[in-house]
Amino acid sequence: MSRTLTGLRYRLRPHPGQERILARSAGACRWLWNWALAYREDLWLAARSAGARGFRGSTGYVHLSSLLPGLKERYPWLSEAPHHALQATLRDQDRAFSSFFAGKSGYPRYRRKGERDSIRFPDPKQFAVDGDWVKIPKLGWTRFRLSRPVTGRVRNITLSREGAHWGVSFCAEGQFSLPNRGLPAVGLDLGAVQSVTTSDGRVVSFPVTTPSEDRRLRWLQRKASRRLKGSARRSRTLAGLAKLKRHLVNRRRDAAHKLSTRLATAHAAIVIEDLKLRRMTASAAATTEEPGRNVRRKSELNRRMLAHGLSDFRRMLAYKCERSGARLVAVDPSFTSQTCSQCKHCAPGNRKSQAVFLCAACGHHANADLNAALNILAAGQAVTAQGGSGVAPADELRTHPRRRPPARLAPTGIPAKAAAAA
Ligand SMILES: [Zn+2]
Repeated sequence: MSRTLTGLRYRLRPHPGQERILARSAGACRWLWNWALAYREDLWLAARSAGARGFRGSTGYVHLSSLLPGLKERYPWLSEAPHHALQATLRDQDRAFSSFFAGKSGYPRYRRKGERDSIRFPDPKQFAVDGDWVKIPKLGWTRFRLSRPVTGRVRNITLSREGAHWGVSFCAEGQFSLPNRGLPAVGLDLGAVQSVTTSDGRVVSFPVTTPSEDRRLRWLQRKASRRLKGSARRSRTLAGLAKLKRHLVNRRRDAAHKLSTRLATAHAAIVIEDLKLRRMTASAAATTEEPGRNVRRKSELNRRMLAHGLSDFRRMLAYKCERSGARLVAVDPSFTSQTCSQCKHCAPGNRKSQAVFLCAACGHHANADLNAALNILAAGQAVTAQGGSGVAPADELRTHPRRRPPARLAPTGIPAKAAAAA
């Protein structure tokens, strides 16, 4: 098995002095990100008025980082942040733009204070890890909560804020293999409802919000909307809301981790639907209940969590299968929900409801998700029998339209192809 990268995240335990440095460094990185973004856009606008067309290569890391010393002279507080972290910020922006130009992600956005604050250290010479201590430039030795051992060789670290706390993520390189019990292949139906159904008849539901959590969410949302914008009381309420949402998301992620590990270590092959061949618009309608106001808001959060949870689950399944040697096969999901798994009769009328499958030809009666999971398994076995590669494409559920570039850069400020893909 080849060496791979893995991310390990821990809660950082900085003392108050270190926390101040962290906040200032994150502020400097955020400022630099926004400055560089505005600088790029200004360059594009200037080039556009001069008649140029393509802007992809107009500026980038090499040029921008050469401006850093001048910036530091002009804004001395920039030097409070570690130099490597500032450089890493510029590199990250380069990556964000290449991903945007490749049509893989939306237009890079301006960062706001407290929103995804992070500091990255790309150079292993700059830091050290010893037990539950990590040495970080400008901060010195800092403690973190060693919730599991740090394995592999740490390549780079990222410090990021999560609510009131800071976390440290180690990106480690090593051989992270998982065992595999070699059980027969299994097909998965990732439902529009909050569950995964396996072809051997098991149903695992990912946790959704409970009624009392819904009430609390709504109560906090109402409270926040009553508070004055920019007030301390409002930001406290918003922090409470963010904390609750994080808790719900973490709970879901935990369930996804448990299920993906269990499947990847048990079966020799796992068959899933190829999402590139399926549009997810239908699932939004399927989970939207009565069009009452509160119901809508509730289902919106649940729908988003579900979509993220399922794409998380697929991503986890992909890397865990790689580690356990299980084969992950992605198949065309068309007609899997209306074909009879027993006699292969295919008709839209076979699916009586969200839950019930009843074959019009042979009378086979089953749970609709289980029937679909069996079809997915059969399709996967057909693919592998034909010598198919069995490689699952890296795909994701897209729940929001991609961010577009600001209007002032359109229509010619960004190459037309990238703008269309955005
Ligand atoms: Zn049938």
